[in-house]
Amino acid sequence: MRIVGVDLCLLEYPLETPFYPAWLPGYPQTAHRVHLLTLETDEGIKGYAAGVAFSREGSGLQQLLLPFLFGRDPMNVEEVVQIARSATFLGLRLWWIEMAFWDIIGKALGQPVYRLLGGYQERVRAYASTGELRSVEERLDYVAQVREMGIRAVKLRFHSWDWREDMAVARAVRERYPDMEIMVDANMGWRVAGMAPAPKWDVSTALRVAEELAELGVRWLEEPLDKNDYEGYRRLREKAPIPLASGEMNQDLHEFREYLIRDAIDILQPDVCLSSGILMGKKIAGMAEAFGKQIAPHTWTSGLGLAANLQLMGASPNCEWAEFPYEPPGWDLKARDYFLTEPIVPDSEGYLPVPSKPGLGVEIDEDAVKHYRVEN
Ligand SMILES: [Mg+2]
Repeated sequence: MRIVGVDLCLLEYPLETPFYPAWLPGYPQTAHRVHLLTLETDEGIKGYAAGVAFSREGSGLQQLLLPFLFGRDPMNVEEVVQIARSATFLGLRLWWIEMAFWDIIGKALGQPVYRLLGGYQERVRAYASTGELRSVEERLDYVAQVREMGIRAVKLRFHSWDWREDMAVARAVRERYPDMEIMVDANMGWRVAGMAPAPKWDVSTALRVAEELAELGVRWLEEPLDKNDYEGYRRLREKAPIPLASGEMNQDLHEFREYLIRDAIDILQPDVCLSSGILMGKKIAGMAEAFGKQIAPHTWTSGLGLAANLQLMGASPNCEWAEFPYEPPGWDLKARDYFLTEPIVPDSEGYLPVPSKPGLGVEIDEDAVKHYRVEN
């Protein structure tokens, strides 16, 4: 089998309401843009991959990738990993293209990818992942809504200039819902500054936050420090009374190895779109397992990215939690999954099913692709 078709296009879905991501202070997001890669084999099998797009930064990408992908054997994923690794020399983060190959492999073999990589679990407990900084009342309303969906865990954003304001929200959620699992994401790992003041914590600030969160029984504190400050994480973890999580923008095996050999965090969060691809995500999960650590893959990209990360989760025995990105009205299910035929939703018990169709487990809505495709 060979790749005989390579198409890379930009999709642009206008959000019905602007979305204000906590991790991009001062940036109102008005569209969900995606790079969609479609590969076709000489047997007529189509494999899809989706990567994040902020603007028109992907123009020229199809031309760049064509000689690397055309004519390739889609079963040789290790070589695709090497191509993505080579792209880092150009400052490009192209791990996401690898999922298209798994989509083809799974479709060729009639199996969802997680069944080919270990087949461990058919569903993973979901936590509702918030995206904005909201008032206490607004956040309590949100938690009530996700509880109606069956979800019993929520990840809150801490990114206010004064973290005590965020702590008030966490405290209110804990008081109102004693049975709710709470995670906290500080989004300091790949801090974006320049449009508005962006907070930055040092180890002692992160420790104070961790101590207060421990009193609330918070499940983990995510990205309190820069993603490459491995020594800072090691020092923080020596004293922090709750588990630490990080890794969504770390890349390749050696960056995750740094966390492990320093015993610097508890939960690794590779994202198959942003940091690894599926095959390397499985290797990272294996390294974590050897060190007695969990993985909790980051999934906040698109519906296809969520599906691909769920395939990794389904194959990983040391994965307990699935991130369910959901922050209506801006980032609702339609905005997130607009080019899938069906949105990915939790079951009545608050678990996310690992998508079970062959390949990445979901179907691409070709009409939506035509509708939202824009000139790049
Ligand atoms: Mg995060």
